[in-house]
Amino acid sequence: MILALENVTRLFGLRRSFFGERRDLAAVSDVSFFLKKGECLGLVGESGCGKTTLGRLAGGLLPPSSGRVLFDGRPLPEAGAGSWAAGRIQMIFQDPSSALNPRLCARTSVAEPLAAQGASHNKQREKAEIILAAVGLGGLGGRYPHEFSGGQRQRIAVARALITHPDMVVCDEPVSSLDASVQSQTLNLLRDVQERFGPAYLFISHDMAVVGFMCERILVMYLGRIVEEAARDALFDNPAHPYSQALLASVPSGQLEKKFPPLVAGEPPSPLDPPNGCHFHPRCPLAREVCRHKMPDWKELSPRHHVRCHIS
Ligand code: SF4
Repeated sequence: MILALENVTRLFGLRRSFFGERRDLAAVSDVSFFLKKGECLGLVGESGCGKTTLGRLAGGLLPPSSGRVLFDGRPLPEAGAGSWAAGRIQMIFQDPSSALNPRLCARTSVAEPLAAQGASHNKQREKAEIILAAVGLGGLGGRYPHEFSGGQRQRIAVARALITHPDMVVCDEPVSSLDASVQSQTLNLLRDVQERFGPAYLFISHDMAVVGFMCERILVMYLGRIVEEAARDALFDNPAHPYSQALLASVPSGQLEKKFPPLVAGEPPSPLDPPNGCHFHPRCPLAREVCRHKMPDWKELSPRHHVRCHIS
């Protein structure tokens, strides 16, 4: 096991009114999961559900307010070049343009994590050329970000993430800013380089079809909590949580299309004022009285399938 989160909660203090009233927003609440070496674990949910905060906690970019993040069996220190975990965890973000310095050529950008580790200039250059070739950009290391397409910039970001041979890469919506035609190429590239270099992925997306393509095991997140965890096939064939069913019903094509009751109309509630009981009850077509006042427990349906719902 490379990563384990134990009852992790992350609060953000917010000023709520002109008079300075402060409230805590729980972006992530009591989340536990593990990631095995070399595994691709999906994390899916709507925008604003806490996925990115959870990815930053897993990557050591944010400390938890409570609970523990263990990396390779040890508490994860704050990210930094001096940390023992530096280089062993890398991130790929949604927008490759913001992750690349426009004044650095691709080769220098890709080599930056090695430079932070004190590698020699020759070593940086040599490894950057090798990894750029591995992502299909061999011979283009001297070009600058504006000379590449969006898909090529994301390839540079992938190369940069892999150059230290990390044990884990947190991929936060890595294809959602790309054109549909480039998305599948980038997903195939991520799968290929995982097979070749072996890092575990925590793969974050709002798109169930993308997560289903990439991941063997999937966590479904709603309003800061994990509401279902299952192997991909179990989740796609037999989703237990009404929210997972709704996400799957929105997958447009063929066999993924299921006949599940639609969500109750309305926006997701604010994490500043989460509903009592099951947070999903105002949108749940199957809600009962108990759902309005009691938070469901985390239940085991099978050793590889868990859900947080009173009726599943
Ligand atoms: Fe719906 Fe109740 Fe299950 Fe929540 S606990 S998902 S409201 S049925």
